[in-house]
Amino acid sequence: MTDCIFCKIIAGEIPSSKIYEDELIYVFNDINPKADVHLLIIPKQHIAQLDQLQQQHQSLIAHMILKLPQLAAAQGLDSGFRTIINTGPGGGQEVYHLHIHLLGGNNLPGFQ
Ligand code: AMP
Ligand code: ZN
Repeated sequence: MTDCIFCKIIAGEIPSSKIYEDELIYVFNDINPKADVHLLIIPKQHIAQLDQLQQQHQSLIAHMILKLPQLAAAQGLDSGFRTIINTGPGGGQEVYHLHIHLLGGNNLPGFQ
């Protein structure tokens, strides 16, 4: 996707604060953090949003989910963390490249 900001981040065309990368996923700091720790976990493959996932994406999604506790631990989030996936306009999604928010730390906002 040439006009996707997160694809451009993966390609290195837009700078990011990279935390982790492997063959399937890229992890970086959210530019507008909502808590002390606020990471975004994205697949390298462009998938616009959660409800476009198909059976073929099972292992990719499992990989993303299984990586979350490791990333949280590496950030020192010993007492736990929060994950959020906003989906579509009704879910408040702003960037249409699938991403998991990982939040934690002392300034974690309330969740209403
Ligand atoms: P969402 O509302 O779930 O689509 O979240 C999109 C997130 O992407 C927001 O938390 C933004 O702060 C974040 N974001 C947008 N542009 C960038 C960027 N260039 N680098 C890092 N995070 C970004
Ligand atoms: Zn993309």
